[in-house]
Amino acid sequence: MSRVKDASNSIKVGMVSLGCAKNLVDSEVMLGILKDRGFEIVPDEAGADVIIVNTCGFILPAKQESINEVLRLARLKQGGRLKALIMTGCLPQRYGEELAKELPEVDAFVGPGEITAIARVIRDVLQIYRTGQPGRPAGRRPVLISEPRFIYSHETPRIISTPPYTAYVKIAEGCDNRCSYCVIPSIRGRFRSRPIESIVSECMRLAGNGARELILVAQDTTRYGEDLYGTFKLASLLREISRIEGVVWVRFLYTYPTHITDELIEVVACEPKICKYFDIPLQHADDRVLRMMGRRNSREDALALINRIRTRIPDVTLRSTFIVGFPGETEDAFDSLLDFLEETKLDRVGVFAYSEEEGTPAEALPDKVPEDVKEERFRRAMELQRRISREKLEARVGSEEMVLVEGLSEESDLVVVARSQREAPGIDGLIYIGDATLKAGTFHQARITGASDHDLAAEIISPA
Ligand code: SF4
Repeated sequence: MSRVKDASNSIKVGMVSLGCAKNLVDSEVMLGILKDRGFEIVPDEAGADVIIVNTCGFILPAKQESINEVLRLARLKQGGRLKALIMTGCLPQRYGEELAKELPEVDAFVGPGEITAIARVIRDVLQIYRTGQPGRPAGRRPVLISEPRFIYSHETPRIISTPPYTAYVKIAEGCDNRCSYCVIPSIRGRFRSRPIESIVSECMRLAGNGARELILVAQDTTRYGEDLYGTFKLASLLREISRIEGVVWVRFLYTYPTHITDELIEVVACEPKICKYFDIPLQHADDRVLRMMGRRNSREDALALINRIRTRIPDVTLRSTFIVGFPGETEDAFDSLLDFLEETKLDRVGVFAYSEEEGTPAEALPDKVPEDVKEERFRRAMELQRRISREKLEARVGSEEMVLVEGLSEESDLVVVARSQREAPGIDGLIYIGDATLKAGTFHQARITGASDHDLAAEIISPA
């Protein structure tokens, strides 16, 4: 055993992963590296010597959640059991030095570009803990923030924390789109893809370990490959992954509307393993607001895209997100967004009230929308979509669909929850089935028997 492992194998590390699935993959990579270096990974906070909080710094509510979580965990240090608290991810990348001044409870700050140094950081911090004294100066705490260039490979250790039948695969990192309201490009760096071979190799290993549903993520999955191969390669990648034995469903999330090619639509239409599901954050439907947002499509482009996808894949599920209350969004512009939702009747829609972020071009825009107006528009958009969602789900009653059982529902021991290819985990509704004998991770044919605003009920017809 190496000296590193000798030094680390009694140290118990816990992880709290906040934010999106892309951040979750970073958390899993850090856990993999730590386990590889001899640290013990523990699931409960109470038994940990060190806790890593992998934060999200995207918009204000996410930042608040991250800080609250750090302050809550800091209380465990007062009891003496928890020796160190480490903050990683988007928030320290954005505010590293500032946080170091404001949060003496945190022992180290590590940006997304430095996560491979996590084992060394923990050892350094514990060394300070053993030899230092409480109230040490902030300058002694590690603050590792750099231009993010890192992206993991199939050889990077990783511990999958999702249920064994589902795994996320990050195919690229960073973003080159420069939407005016978004801080991601400055936090996550330039867009960079992983080579196809590396992704396929990782997917084969995941499938060999029991993953049946693979979910490809990136800030912009549709740009995948452009930097490495000079052209968009998501369609080719999906074809390759579809050939892997054991994989039942392949999903991809976070597409950019103007990067969706006919080839990509064709591959989704033709490859049975690829879920007939497009997640296309459109952000708005008024041309002037779209221009102010720095988006590259118009309302007509979005309508044409939706039409193109639905014509080729009539049973497709379309998901999108929209921002309300962006600077300069007049009542007319907001109405045109509501008209768009009514006209397109998208299956799944997320709505966010605009959150102004320091350092973004949108911060300098005039004609800010007051908070109460933003809230009111948020409620109106959500209410409209609630009705549309119910109509869309009611239209599925009586249909037969293959479902993946996820386990017992939180509400009842007699009911399991499941998803069809139309429901992505964590963001869409669920399908409730009154048969507690169904095992998590198994596929079945089910008949949809009922619908509510966001969820469905079903009965099993036969194993898939
Ligand atoms: S596409 Fe736009 S909103 Fe999405 S991560 Fe890139 S810059 Fe941000």
